[in-house]
Amino acid sequence: DTPVFEVRDIRKDYVLGKPGLFGGKLRSLAAVRDVSFTLRRGETVGLVGESGCGKSSLARTVLRLNEPTGGEVRYHGRNILDLPKAEMQKLRRHIQVVFQDPYSSLDPRFTVRRILSEPWQVFPDIVPPARREARVAELLTLVGLNPSDADRYPHQFSGGQRQRIGIARALALEPEVIVCDEAVSALDVSVQAQVVNLLKDLQDKLGLAYLFIAHDLSVVRHISDRVIVMYLGQVVEEGPTDAVFRTPRHPYTVALLSAVPVPDPKQKDRDVIVLEGEVPNPIMPPSGCPFHPRCAHARDLCRQTPPPVREVGDARVRCHFAGELEPAADLRHLAGP
Ligand code: SF4
Ligand code: MG
Repeated sequence: DTPVFEVRDIRKDYVLGKPGLFGGKLRSLAAVRDVSFTLRRGETVGLVGESGCGKSSLARTVLRLNEPTGGEVRYHGRNILDLPKAEMQKLRRHIQVVFQDPYSSLDPRFTVRRILSEPWQVFPDIVPPARREARVAELLTLVGLNPSDADRYPHQFSGGQRQRIGIARALALEPEVIVCDEAVSALDVSVQAQVVNLLKDLQDKLGLAYLFIAHDLSVVRHISDRVIVMYLGQVVEEGPTDAVFRTPRHPYTVALLSAVPVPDPKQKDRDVIVLEGEVPNPIMPPSGCPFHPRCAHARDLCRQTPPPVREVGDARVRCHFAGELEPAADLRHLAGP
């Protein structure tokens, strides 16, 4: 069966500066480099990495909010990058996005009813006018709010409730794909869990496919079928969630996972691999493997030659020594019971 959404070798370069700078040459920044993933109905792909790794650029690029420099984005097999703007506009309803801060994306002057009805101004055929009142009530119920909330304003809700309104607004267009860009990152941990559970329920009910972007690995683990780890615009590790969390292969993934707080106090003294240094300036990425300045395993080959992608078990790993490095024994606690 054809995947709902497929991204192939997507690339986004930003050209920087004017002629005359950098010795007359234009410099470009490769914010997203040849990233690929597939979303099937009811499936979630989690995307993780430190801030500045290109997660948000990737989200904006696959949504065509930023025009990609290269690659393909397929919706039911059809490359949407070839579509004229007007047709792309029509297709947008199928691919919605939920952003981190629902408050800034919900107009404070409007009632919830108006906020949820707004998308139907652009796509009037989705819900006929006579059905809209009832549909607003259904949407509110679907996201765990009350139909009577329709008359209230965004500031009358908590952060978690506002994010539910943001989700309801995305659902108003009956999409098949939702990009959740740090959608729960601003919420308290207990509220995060509630919203993630809501997203999972909605996925089960409606067959939604999610690209779930977050820097919080425990949340990603809970919701994702597959995980992509990004570093400096590139995928460094990709695989089924269980495989990546149980046996991380790329030193960057190992370091990211090792930074996750451990709930079990017995584990307190385990060795934490501290991820030293900052993400390098993407305008001047390091030679060879871009992770080498921060990698404890780096050798001459790493400094000289970009690593190929290697298949190790179920995962794909961009490291010269993937599968040959010491397994991260101290991470076994993260695999859960
Ligand atoms: Fe580390 Fe070398 Fe692997 Fe890069 S290729 S992650 S520097 S071991
Ligand atoms: Mg981001």
